[in-house]
Amino acid sequence: MVTGVLEPGGDASTALYIVSFSLFIFGVRRGTHPSTAKQGNLIAAVGMAIAVVTTLLLDGIGNWGLIVAGLVIGTAVGVVASIRVQMTQMPQMVALYNGVGGGAIALIAWAEIRHGIALGDELPLDTLIPILLSTVVGSISFWGSNIAFAKLQDLIPTQPLAVPGQQVINALLLVGVVAACVSLAINNDDISEPLFIGILIASALLGNLVVLPIGGADMPVVISLLNAFTGLAAASAGIALDNVALIVAGTLVGSSGTILTLEMATAMNRSVPNILFAGFGGAPAAAAGGGEERPHTSIGAQDAAIKLAYADSVVIVPGYGLAVAQAQHAVKELADELEKRGVSVNYAIHPVAGRMPGHMNVLLAEADVPYEKLREMEDINPELPRTDVAVVIGANDVTNPAAKNDPDSPIAGMPIIEVHEARQVIVIKRSMSPGFAGIDNDLFYLDNTDMLFGDAKQAAADIASEVGDL
Ligand code: NAP
Repeated sequence: MVTGVLEPGGDASTALYIVSFSLFIFGVRRGTHPSTAKQGNLIAAVGMAIAVVTTLLLDGIGNWGLIVAGLVIGTAVGVVASIRVQMTQMPQMVALYNGVGGGAIALIAWAEIRHGIALGDELPLDTLIPILLSTVVGSISFWGSNIAFAKLQDLIPTQPLAVPGQQVINALLLVGVVAACVSLAINNDDISEPLFIGILIASALLGNLVVLPIGGADMPVVISLLNAFTGLAAASAGIALDNVALIVAGTLVGSSGTILTLEMATAMNRSVPNILFAGFGGAPAAAAGGGEERPHTSIGAQDAAIKLAYADSVVIVPGYGLAVAQAQHAVKELADELEKRGVSVNYAIHPVAGRMPGHMNVLLAEADVPYEKLREMEDINPELPRTDVAVVIGANDVTNPAAKNDPDSPIAGMPIIEVHEARQVIVIKRSMSPGFAGIDNDLFYLDNTDMLFGDAKQAAADIASEVGDL
C-alpha cells in the first residue's frame, strides 16, 4: 500500500474525512426505519472504510505488521460472529463490540501518553485533558461492557451483585481518579506513567463495580449507556489526535446512545439512576399476587382457533416469551392462516417488549412479517377497542393494565399496549408467572381474557393447524 501520501490535517485528508462522516450521518438517518435500515448500515460501513483507508494513507503511519495483523484478526472475528451469533444473542454481541471500542480508545490514550513521555516535551492541556477523559471513560466502558456481556451470556450470575459499602467505594474510586487526573494535568511537563496506569486500573475497577450490582435484565439499558460513554471517549480521543472523523463519529455514538438510554428508561417508566443504583432486574421475582389464587379462565388451541377464525380483526402482541420460544415463524404461519380466511391481522409493538430495543421488530422481520403490519403502541392503541381478538404471545408487563389504573403499582405510569380494551383477549404463556417486573398482571383475570397455557411456538403452531382444519 502507498503510505504517507496524505498530510494529516491537510485539505485532501480533511475532505475525505468529511465524506466519511457525512456517510455516517446519512447511514444513521436511513437506520431510522426497518425498510431502509440495512441500506443505512451499508452506507455507514462505506463511510467507515473511507475513514480507515484515509487514516492509513496519512503521513507518519508505521508498523504495518501490527496494522495488517489487526485488520486480519478483526475481520475474521467480525465475519465469523456475524454468521454464527443468534438474533437472541445480539445484546451481548453489542456489549462485546462496545467494550472493545472503549478498550481500544483507552489504549490509544495510553500510547499517546507514552509518545508524549518519549518526546520529553510538556503535553499541552488541550491534548492531555481529552486523553485523560478517553482513558477514564474508555476503561470504564470496556470493563462495564465485559461484565454486561458476562451477565447476558450467563458466565456470571445475572442477579445484582453488590459488596457492602459499594456506593462509598465507588465514590472514593471516582474521587481518586479525578485527583490523579488533576495531578497529571498540573505536572504536564513531567508525566508520571505509573500514575497514569493507576488511573487506568482505578477506572477499570469502577467499570466492574458499577455494573456488577445491576440485574441481568437491565443490561440492555446499561449497554446503551456504556455505548454513549464509548462515543464520548472516542470524540475525546478525536480532539487529542486532531481527527475530525473520530470527533464526529464519537459524537454521533454518544448522542444516539444517550437518546436510546433515555427512551428505554421512559418506556420502562424508570429513571436512569434507578436502573443503575436500585439493584432491580435480576432473576424474575418469585412472588406474584401475594400467594392468593385469583380466578381466571383457560382455553385450549381448538377454542382459540374458533375465536380467531371467526374474528374480523386480530391484533398480535408479542413479548419476551416469543423470543425465548423462537415462535416468530409459527406466529407468522398462524397470521397467514387467518388472513387466508379474510381476517385482518396486525402486530402491536411495545418499545420495550422483549429484552432489547427493536427485539420484536427483528424477530418478526426474520419471519418475513411485512413492516407495515408492525404497528407502534401509540398507533395501535386507539384501534384496540374496535379489535375483535387481541392475542398476547409471551408478553406480560407491556400489557398490564395496572400501569394505567393502579397508582401504587411498581410499573404505574409505564405506557402499555391496551389489550384489555379489545373485545376478547387470549394470553399465550406457560403459567401464571410474572414477567420482568415480577408483578401479577391484572389482565389475566379480566372477564374478556382467556389464558392458553403452553410454549409460545407450540401453541401458535397448534392454533394455526386448528384454523387450517376449520
Ligand atoms: P415480560 O414482562 O418479561 O414477560 C414475558 C413473559 O413471557 C413471561 O411472563 C413468561 O411467562 C413468558 N414466557 C417465557 N418463555 C415463554 C415461552 N417459551 N412460551 C410462552 N411464554 C413464555 O415480557 P414483555 O411483556 O415483553 O416485557 C418486557 C419487560 O422487559 C418489561 O418489563 C421491560 O421494561 C423489560 N425490559 C425491556 C428491555 C428492552 O429493551 N426491550 C430492556 C430491559 C428490560 P411464563 O413463564 O408463564 O411462560
